[in-house]
Amino acid sequence: MIGDEINKATRPEMTITIVGVGLIGGSMAITLREKGFASRLIGVGRSARSLQKALELGLVDEILELEDAIRVSDLIVLAVPVDTLMKMLPGVLDRVNDSQVVIDVGSTKEKFLAQIQDHPHRSRFVATHPMAGTEYSGPEAAVAGLFAGKCTVFCDLADSAPDAVALVRKMYEVLGMRIVCMDAAAHDLHTAYVSHISHITSFALALTVLEKEKEEKAIFELASGGFESTVRLAKSSPDMWVPVFRQNREHVLDVLGEMIHQLNRMKELLTREDFEGVRRLIEQSNEIKRIIK
Ligand code: NAP
Repeated sequence: MIGDEINKATRPEMTITIVGVGLIGGSMAITLREKGFASRLIGVGRSARSLQKALELGLVDEILELEDAIRVSDLIVLAVPVDTLMKMLPGVLDRVNDSQVVIDVGSTKEKFLAQIQDHPHRSRFVATHPMAGTEYSGPEAAVAGLFAGKCTVFCDLADSAPDAVALVRKMYEVLGMRIVCMDAAAHDLHTAYVSHISHITSFALALTVLEKEKEEKAIFELASGGFESTVRLAKSSPDMWVPVFRQNREHVLDVLGEMIHQLNRMKELLTREDFEGVRRLIEQSNEIKRIIK
């Protein structure tokens, strides 16, 4: 049944517009072209520099203004920071017809979905969040195979038309992703607890080391696997993350409170020289091995 819908939804000639040809939008473009899912790829963006780079790298075939791109597209992928997405989405939905499909790839969902809840074209929109990325941004950061073997979240599917969902499902299958469905509120809660806090702790770690270790040479020379892998996310762009923290502020504050509590527990045990307590804390944290190998 789902298979029939997917076959009906897939179109032989598919024009896809990527709004925001950066890490996520550009990486999607590479694989969708490689696998023959997109026959024509249009880029829409902000700076002439990024758009020119996206063309040079062959991520898209041409650059158009948003209105012109929407007019000729089967599928429109909004891959811009989430505050821009919030401003842009109602205007995009105003312009689509009943056979076009719009998706986002944003890291938060609840606020902007509430904003379009009563839009007459709400059903042409499918809210998605591919759980894949790197610490780099812009068109130069786009890479083939970024999404393969990872999971993507679909939110509030009952609000989207079945043919739109089928097309987007097919697109993510082509990208090699597993699909997980949840409502927007659950998505924002779980991503705060797993993804957003990881970035905050990495930003804090980078700040701590930069503050304490004034000898850059020592950081460079002593940085080994542990430091590098824990601090990696601190290279991420504020243009992407500030909007995420703004839109998911309450959940992020909640999990940040827990993180500070855990740091304080460790500090208290060390202050009291309670090394048995420290051992117990580390053993408790080792429990994560049950879930992630
Ligand atoms: P990125 O590499 O910085 O790409 C964002 C692109 O959006 C840039 O090309 C940027 O153009 C463009 N843009 C910014 N403001 C715009 C505007 N007002 N109008 C048109 N284009 C605009 O960021 P990204 O990491 O791909 O993130 C894109 C989306 O994916 C975000 O919503 C993010 O939450 C989500 N996401 C990110 C990750 C991750 O790990 N990075 C993972 C999953 C989902 P300029 O280059 O000209 O600024």
